[in-house]
This record gives sequence, structure tokens and C-alpha cells, in this order.
Amino acid sequence: MDNQDKTKEELICELQKLLQENNSLKALKKKRAAELGVANIELDFQDEEKEKRAAELVIANKELVLQNREKEKRATELIIANKELIFQNEEKEKLTAELRLAKEHAEESDRLKSAFLANMSHEIRTPMNGILGFADLLKEPGLTGEAQQEYIRIIEKSGERMLNIINDIISISKIESGLLEVNIKSSNINEQMEYVHTFFKPEVESKKLQLLLSKKLLMKESIINTDREKVYAILTNLVKNAIKYTTKGIIEFGCDKKGDELEFFVSDTGIGIPKNRQMAIFERFIQADISDIHALQGAGLGLSISKAYVVLLGGRVWLESEEGKGSTFYFTLPYKTEPEENIVLENDERYGKEDGKVTLKGSGLKILIVEDDEISGMLLAAIVKELSKELLEVRTGIEAVDICHHNPDIDLILMDIQMPDLSGYEATRQIRKFNKDVVVIAQTAFGLLGDREKAIKSGCNDYISKPFVKDKLLAIIRKHIKK
Ligand code: ADP
Repeated sequence: MDNQDKTKEELICELQKLLQENNSLKALKKKRAAELGVANIELDFQDEEKEKRAAELVIANKELVLQNREKEKRATELIIANKELIFQNEEKEKLTAELRLAKEHAEESDRLKSAFLANMSHEIRTPMNGILGFADLLKEPGLTGEAQQEYIRIIEKSGERMLNIINDIISISKIESGLLEVNIKSSNINEQMEYVHTFFKPEVESKKLQLLLSKKLLMKESIINTDREKVYAILTNLVKNAIKYTTKGIIEFGCDKKGDELEFFVSDTGIGIPKNRQMAIFERFIQADISDIHALQGAGLGLSISKAYVVLLGGRVWLESEEGKGSTFYFTLPYKTEPEENIVLENDERYGKEDGKVTLKGSGLKILIVEDDEISGMLLAAIVKELSKELLEVRTGIEAVDICHHNPDIDLILMDIQMPDLSGYEATRQIRKFNKDVVVIAQTAFGLLGDREKAIKSGCNDYISKPFVKDKLLAIIRKHIKK
């Protein structure tokens, strides 16, 4: 049947069916669209999640990198801390070793000091024995003139030996207390060496040895600024040792200019010094402790004093020595010639002359001796007898001031410093208030640093330390007397 044949109802029915289908299609579409929307939202959501995750991963990654860096830093810090610990441990060990060494050193030094004191006591008693023993023998009746002279020579030698010991002890205590004075003056080195040569020649020859001053400086190189007393002391000590430890052959000394230094040497053909003792002999007190068969009389202080002097003057000291063949001691001094303030070219008092000739200055003087010790007073009177036309003697500082009041024409006062009532310093101070011209020479037995300064400060013209010899006292007097 065709459409025309279909009934209207059938058509409506079909139409309704179509409409229904259409509706369900629409609903399906709507549902589908909704589902798609949801799916889409989910997808979007998943994308965001992914991005968030990725960002989180980036952050986590960064954190990991950071943590790794921290770890590396920490590891480096640990390595450093470890190294520091090792270092600290090493330092601790080093410190412990140093402490142990210092302790051993202190114990050693203590032991050496005790040995030194024992040796010192022996060194002082031996010459004392000579002095007192031979002085006693001198009293014996019927002694020949020759024997008397021999005993007197021994007494003198023993006295000198004792004085050397005392001087060494004073020098060492000045060094130890850091109070060593340096007195830099323009000094003639050749003159110093010539003096040492002249001084020791007789002693060397009496031992059937030869003493050669083999190298001198050129005239123009010979004057330097240094402490001439210390240079003299160093040279004297080295030459003295060379003589002491040599029984045959030659002792030679001299000086060379090497760059900006003067290099001195003192060589001998003596017993030599074993290698293992070569450094030690410069240490103070050392000889006191060794059981050295060659340790001839001496306190073992000379070389340590010499070394301290050399170092103080800016030089070095060393030695070359072979046992049985001999030794050479060297020392240097800086070659300084530039003019410095307060440097005076003085004549050396030791030569006992001025400008090369002995002067006749200083005779016909009125002299006052202020001395509380009778023997010292007698010695002074005997020494100055040849200079005096009138000699006054008093025993105390108060008497000295008094006698000066009544005798304004006194030319010279020999003033003892240590007196019971008024010290020599104070007496001089009081005398200076009314007499500016009289020459006052102080004499003390202390031999200590600062004595000279104290004497000059209190108004004395000069100072001499006891014991003194005639020539030295006369040279000092002549230096100040204008008559
Ligand atoms: P001392 O007054 O005992 O001689 P030093 O300090 O001058 O003291 O010398 C220390 C030690 O060095 C001496 O005791 C000696 O053993 C040794 N000595 C010094 N000079 C010489 C030398 N020229 N030859 C051999 N030994 C020497």
C-alpha cells in the first residue's frame, strides 16, 4: 500500500514514532554531550594534575639537587673538620713534645747550675788557697829574695785568676738579667788586635808557642762603630782559650772584610774539640758539668759570654775543629762606619798613654783619700804618692765633706763609695754644692752595671772599679787633671 493508501492515523502514528526516535536521539546526544563534557573536565583535571605533578617533580628535583649540594658541603666540612682534628692532634703531640723538652731542659739547667756552683766554689777556693798560702809563707824568716819574688808572683797570678772568675760571673748575671750595656764608639780594630797580640806574646812564647797576627785590615777599613770593650773581650777570650788548649805549634788570629761584615778568626794547633761537643761549648755552665780530662782551669763561661757579646753586636760565632789537630773560632761583626750621634773617638785607657806618649801631667797635687778600708787606703796612698805634694786621708763620708770645707785647694779626691755613715755618692753631692772644680774619682768594689752612671750623676768626674792596677788609676787621674 502506498502513502496515499495509508490512513491518516497510520501517518500520525509513524510521525509520533519518528518524533519519539528524534527525542531519544536528542536525549542520547545530550547524554553523550554531558558525558563528553565530564570526560573533558576529567581530562582537563588530569592535565592540571600532571602539570602540578610535573611542577612538584621539578621542585622535588631542585630540592634533591639542593640536598645533594648540602650533602657535598657537609662532606667537605667533615673532611675539613677531620683535617683540623688531625692537625689539632698533631699540634697537641707537638706541644706535648715541646713541654717534655722544656721540662727536660729545666731539669738539665737546674742540674748544670748546681754543678756550676760546685765548680765555681772550687774555682774561687783554688786561687784563694794560693793567695793565703803564699802570703803566709812570705812571713817566714830567712826567705831568699828570689823565693819572695816567686811567692809574690803566685799571689798576683792567683788574684788575677780570681778576678777573672768574678768578672765572668758578673758578665753572666748581666747577660741573664738582660741588662747588658752596649757602648758603641768609633773603634780601631787593628789597634785592638795589635794590643791583644802584644799582651799575649810573652805568655805564648813562654809556652814555646808562636802567636801570629796574620791578617790586619787596611787602615781605612779598620775604623768601625762598635763596642770596643766587647770586641776586646771576645778576642781576648778566644786567644786565651787557644793558648790554654795548645801545647805545641801556632796560634794565629786576624780579620778580613767580607762584604758588609768583618770576619775574625782565632786558630790553634791544640787539642781540638770533639764533634759532639762543638755546639755545647757555647752554652753557659757547660764545662762545669763535663768530666772532661782537658777541662783545664776555667769556669766554662768564657765562650757563652763571648757568644752573647757577638750576638749583641749583631754578629755570628762558629767554629771548625778536629780532635788532635786544632780549632778555629770565627766571629763576625757588622761593618758599620756611618757617623752616629754620641760617638767619640777616644784614646783607649788600656794603653795608659794619651796621643801616643805618656804625659807628665798631674804631679804636685793636693790629694784627699776617702776610704774606710785600711788596706785599700794604704794601696791608694802608695799609688798616688808620686803625684802628690800633700796627702790627706779620712775614713768617712762626713769627714770628707768636712775636710773639703776647710781645704778648698784640694785638687783630687779618691772617693770610696760604700761607707757606713754617708755614701761616697752623697758625700760627693754635698761637696759639689761648694766646690765645682775638684776632681772626684769614685772607686767601688761592686763592679756592677750602672755604677759609672750613678757616680757621674752624683758629681764624680770618673769611676774605677776595685781591684785596680796602678797604671789604670794613674791614667784616669791624668785624664782629668788639668795641672
Ligand atoms: P773555660 O773558661 O772553661 O775555658 P770556655 O767557655 O771558654 O770556658 O770554653 C768552654 C770549653 O770549650 C772549654 O772548657 C774547653 O773544653 C773547650 N774549648 C774552648 N776553646 C778551646 C780551644 N781553643 N781548643 C780546645 N778546646 C776548647
